[in-house]
Amino acid sequence: MVNEFIQTADFKFIKNNLSILVQSLLKLLQSCEIMDKELLDKYTKLGRGNWGKDLAIWKTMYKGFLGMAKSERGFLNPGKSEELNPFIEMLLNAFLEIPKARKEGIPVIMHPFNYEPELFFAMNLAPLMQEILSVGLAFVHMNEPYIDYINNIGYGDNPTICNAQRPLISMAMQKAAPIPDLLFYLSTPCNSLAASYQVFQGLTGIPSYNIDVPYWAYEEASEYYDEKTMQYMINQSKNFITWLENNTKHKFEEQKFQQTMEITNEAREYTLEFNELLKAVPCPMPSITGFGVFLTMVARGGSPEAVKATKWFRDTAAENVKKGIGAVPDEKIRIAWPYTHVFFDINLLNWIEQTFNAVVVMDLLGHYKVLPQDTSTIENCFKSLALGTLDASMVGKCRGPLEYYLNYLIDYVKDYKIDCVIMPMHFACKHVYTMARIASEAIREETGIPTLIFGVDSYDSREVTSEELKSKISDFLTHIVL
Ligand code: SF4
Repeated sequence: MVNEFIQTADFKFIKNNLSILVQSLLKLLQSCEIMDKELLDKYTKLGRGNWGKDLAIWKTMYKGFLGMAKSERGFLNPGKSEELNPFIEMLLNAFLEIPKARKEGIPVIMHPFNYEPELFFAMNLAPLMQEILSVGLAFVHMNEPYIDYINNIGYGDNPTICNAQRPLISMAMQKAAPIPDLLFYLSTPCNSLAASYQVFQGLTGIPSYNIDVPYWAYEEASEYYDEKTMQYMINQSKNFITWLENNTKHKFEEQKFQQTMEITNEAREYTLEFNELLKAVPCPMPSITGFGVFLTMVARGGSPEAVKATKWFRDTAAENVKKGIGAVPDEKIRIAWPYTHVFFDINLLNWIEQTFNAVVVMDLLGHYKVLPQDTSTIENCFKSLALGTLDASMVGKCRGPLEYYLNYLIDYVKDYKIDCVIMPMHFACKHVYTMARIASEAIREETGIPTLIFGVDSYDSREVTSEELKSKISDFLTHIVL
């Protein structure tokens, strides 16, 4: 059934859109320098061959990232290094793993941006983090033709259903989406995400499983504590494993699971240290870096590559702190960005850095808060796995009472010596509209610093344009903060 679905893909539509992506990438690659030739050759060769019709866009994105890696201005490639950094290498491998898994008969499981793939690695499944595709395309605006298509079809609209996932539905309807063997999603961070994954399941017929993320706290000291929270998560993980075993030929092995959670701990340790290093003044890493840490954990958490990448982030930050190097020269403003980035404008953060000598210390997703855990018993490993969701960047702050978010934000502002808060309010995130306004008042009362909140579609450049965003940010930083 899946093969039939793939073979009827509308390649004219894909080809037209791919040319938009390639042209956009070429623009990004102006002034590029060539990275290590051997590595470039290696990854160029690895990317060749037939990936399958449904992976046409996935493959083009791989080539795009490889191209960006060649550039000293490449995504998360601070400094002038000509080496392929471990983060980019990890990302390239995440792309390559999908066609490789297909060839080797390893089941591919699609999952959203709020669930780390440790369990999938432990069971020798190939994880495909879906938003790499539907959000990744926003960087080069290639998601917009898909948004237009789905607008015409009438599947939701902005802001009822989020444009972080609507392109996936659009691609599926045009038979251009990757078709995994299994589908997994959660009830958080919003109904919109869960609805779109359900629709994708309905369109493709892929077996799917989902986990309900509880509202209440697991810490006994919390006033919102509920003793059932942790066990509820653990039980769902165990049921999920049974489902995975029933839907694949892969068996769950306790020892492999324990090893994977130990590897996860290493990456969490490095991330914790990285977060501490960002408290330094000047901030040692560029504004987008925290997001890179998040992407590492959510795309490859539980793999040795994630350990290598998080170690590289930590080491680079430590080296810069030691040398007193700041991400922006003569740092004047430290910004908290406690929500998502504006994904359609890849240059917005650079512009803020260069125009105002201001650094965005971390965004909400990039502020990874899951601590290393005791992995001495299998039950503790399940607890560690559950915490990967309960404490996940956005899930942890937005899954329960407003106080989860308020307390987080007040601590963030104080710990990182923040001068102001900028909160883009993505139109589809209706569940946090009220939270943003209350948070801004709490921040002013507790710390005296100002907050800018503005509406935007973080994935569609045509709703609120880059120019409009820059104008609002410029007015705020110039007239209120400085
Ligand atoms: S951006 Fe908001 S509405 Fe969209 S998936 Fe994330 S939480 Fe949901």
